[in-house]
Amino acid sequence: MMSGNMATVAGVEVSTDHWIDGRRVSSPRRFANISPIDGSHIADVAAGGKAEVDQAVAAARKAFPAWAALGPKGRLPILKRFAEGIKARANELAAVETMDNGSLLLGNVHRVVPRAAQNIEFFAEWALTLEGHSIDSPEVVNHVKYDPAGVAALITPWNAPLMLTTWKVGPALAAGNTVVVKPPEWAPLTCSLMADIAHAAGIPAGVLNVVQGIGEEAGDALVNHPDVDRISFTGSTDTAKIIGQAAARSITPLSAELGGKSPFIVCADADLDAAAQTVAAQYMNAGQVCLAGTRIMVEKSIEEGFLEKVRAASSHMIVGDPRDKDTRVGPLIHKEHFERVAGFVERAKADGAVPLWGGSRANFGDLYFQPTLFAHVDPFLEIAQREVFGPVLTWQSFSSDDEVIELANNTKYGLAATLFSRNEARATRIASQVVAGTVWVNCFFIRDLAAPFGGSRDSGIGREGGSWSFDFYSDIKNISVRKGSFA
Ligand code: NAD
Repeated sequence: MMSGNMATVAGVEVSTDHWIDGRRVSSPRRFANISPIDGSHIADVAAGGKAEVDQAVAAARKAFPAWAALGPKGRLPILKRFAEGIKARANELAAVETMDNGSLLLGNVHRVVPRAAQNIEFFAEWALTLEGHSIDSPEVVNHVKYDPAGVAALITPWNAPLMLTTWKVGPALAAGNTVVVKPPEWAPLTCSLMADIAHAAGIPAGVLNVVQGIGEEAGDALVNHPDVDRISFTGSTDTAKIIGQAAARSITPLSAELGGKSPFIVCADADLDAAAQTVAAQYMNAGQVCLAGTRIMVEKSIEEGFLEKVRAASSHMIVGDPRDKDTRVGPLIHKEHFERVAGFVERAKADGAVPLWGGSRANFGDLYFQPTLFAHVDPFLEIAQREVFGPVLTWQSFSSDDEVIELANNTKYGLAATLFSRNEARATRIASQVVAGTVWVNCFFIRDLAAPFGGSRDSGIGREGGSWSFDFYSDIKNISVRKGSFA
């Protein structure tokens, strides 16, 4: 039986309080959580601050020694139950996520929630591979140990809260840390359900804590807390600059996965139908996808015909209610964000960029924006330089590989790149010269959890995934023992 402040969201009972030290904790102040689908009021959620963060970090510190002592093998069955619990509640998690942030319901059911479960299971199993590493030297044997770092502060954005939070919670817990999660205030509720599932799976009190609240209050208190050993942040570059200052003051290791303005390169020798379908897919979830390839770059010789293919593919990007199975483009998350996106579009028009389609509010609801493509875009215009985080693409053309490489690298970002070409040598050359943490060749959005993930330049600090996650969430120790020195 649940107690405390509850909301019924899409038929699911969700606590709107914090989860600290194995119990629900309320706050006198609360913030309104509004659904972007129709502007309906979902709940008033506890607005934590320094007091709640202090409580959560203290609980995490207290729980740390016992959780760390379990070792990867001891933690594995508990984390597997956690993953199973996520799978068992997939429909509920998906429905709440969709109400909270307007992401596509079917995508949440079939891809996002299963991936969240995989994030927990995968890293719990990977942790087993970290034991028993040694490096043989002439005089000594180096035994390499992955000690858990301590208390990890995990901060995530609203566009995929459950997926991105579990992507941090999975390796942090598997490595033996305890965590304090600060969910995004525009989509806070799946992290609350995640805490219930973790508890039901047998994760001990204090190992996983959730403090709800506004970034500038709860988030700020968390990243400035002196007893935090790791800060893992996913969100905007501007916020990362603020968090980076807090991390620098205490020399706390910081992982930052940030925004992007990724190029999408289409060579004349590409499978143009597949490329056009994939360009249109950049509008999914209203373009609120960090990895979206928003700068379309097309080889001049195929430009006209390819534009028609993209136009046809984009006509299937139906704007509507994200709970409807035919919808591909749901709402923008919030009025403030809608105005930000609309502002970029208006300034682009004023700068002389021409919308070939879209360019204004969609005829559906307050927060819905038409899939938009700007042509004749000067690469130095704001619309080609800054992350819009909406269904807005730009179109540029190129005549040589050197030209497209220069164009692709002409922003401050370096998160991802997508490239379509049937010529392996050419694709390899371009992929190796584009500045990006991930380059997809003839595919998009495929992410193996064992592979490194992160961004270069303003798109991030560090890499996560596979062993890279454990490098971050561990204090790696070398025990160097002189050979033959034991009796
Ligand atoms: P944001 O930076 O505004 O907020 C992210 C989180 O930080 C939220 O939980 C917020 O409450 C918190 N926060 C805000 N100010 C804070 C402060 N001073 N101290 C501590 N925490 C604070 O970002 P957003 O608008 O929620 O998300 C969109 C951005 O996230 C886009 O730039 C997008 O590209 C990026 N993103 C990146 C990835 C990736 O993996 N690289 C994935 C998803 C989203």
